[in-house]
Amino acid sequence: MKSQFSNYMPEVVANRHYLHQHPEIGLSEFKTSDFVAEQLGAMGYEVTRGLGKTGVVATLRNGTGTRSIGIRADFDALPIHEETGLDYQSKTPGVMHACGHDGHTAMLLGAAKIIAERKNFDGVVHLIFQPAEENFGGAKLMMDDGLFERFPCDAVFALHNDPSMPFGKFVFREGPIMASVDECRITVNGRGGHGAEPQDNLDPIVCGASIIMALQTIASRNVHPIDSCVVTVGAFHAGMASNVIPERAEMLLTIRSFSPRVRDLLEHRIRTIAEGQAASYGMGVTIDYSRGYNATVNHKAETDFLRTLATDFAGAENVMEMERPSMGSEDFAYMLAESPGSYFFLGSARTESDPPLHHPRYDFNDDILPLGTSFWVELVERWLAGK
Ligand SMILES: [Zn+2]
Ligand SMILES: [Zn+2]
Repeated sequence: MKSQFSNYMPEVVANRHYLHQHPEIGLSEFKTSDFVAEQLGAMGYEVTRGLGKTGVVATLRNGTGTRSIGIRADFDALPIHEETGLDYQSKTPGVMHACGHDGHTAMLLGAAKIIAERKNFDGVVHLIFQPAEENFGGAKLMMDDGLFERFPCDAVFALHNDPSMPFGKFVFREGPIMASVDECRITVNGRGGHGAEPQDNLDPIVCGASIIMALQTIASRNVHPIDSCVVTVGAFHAGMASNVIPERAEMLLTIRSFSPRVRDLLEHRIRTIAEGQAASYGMGVTIDYSRGYNATVNHKAETDFLRTLATDFAGAENVMEMERPSMGSEDFAYMLAESPGSYFFLGSARTESDPPLHHPRYDFNDDILPLGTSFWVELVERWLAGK
């Protein structure tokens, strides 16, 4: 980190702790949005609000250049009750910054201030503070409100802290980096009755169990061995008593993949298996299948740019290639589908067994604040370098 930025760090840390104490769930980040917008306005940015309900875009122009860059930070929290016991822990019971979006926002705010004070670039900077990454696809909502038409970006970038990666490592991957995520609810419609008289009823539990087992063959028998996918039945609900056959059984699935072809195949096979299995038991199913975030696919040129910059910035020993993509998902996928760009991870491990993201004892590691903050400054200044 450039030593001249270190005097900004107390404020970045204070912002991070403030945000951590005041977490808000996706699309209700009203105070967070105010907090961010007020600071950016005071720094001299042109601030536009209301994209994706609570989203904020801060724009700064300098020089005569027409090149532009977008950097995105997400700022929503999760419905988790914090158990860290920190002196700056969440003041809102049941809501917590358990994914580090407080840190992402604090780093981009810190970078915003440094960028504005240095004005060492030629072109246009759009800083995108995005709501609802965890649930409602805030990235898509901001785009539906004209994000890229109103704020054209030659490329967009975003990072995520990763407590499972060694501290200070910049982790890149060209091509797919996060999976698409779809959800499916399968309801088996049986006919309930006395548990002692199964011959007179249609037992949706037996049928549901059979469907669950048959779903396991999709990954093993239908998808190409070299392609990747996950079909997880995360919930199975049926019945209340030992001597009652229930009327219906319900299961909830999460479905992950990387290519549109595999994604379509998974939906087709899930529907066919559920319907076919149920029919063999004389029952029917109701299938409610909904497509969520697309796979996040990084562009080559922008990923190369980041890798070179990170090597200069942090040294080759701190630059890593991600061996395989994550089966997690990320709504930055929508931005990368319409704009060149790249998404990467910044390793933030404190120990070898830090609580993972989305854990009630997870806490963003403040020690990476200087790294992330100054990397964004470097990226803007290098991407928009004047002649
Ligand atoms: Zn998360
Ligand atoms: Zn996250």
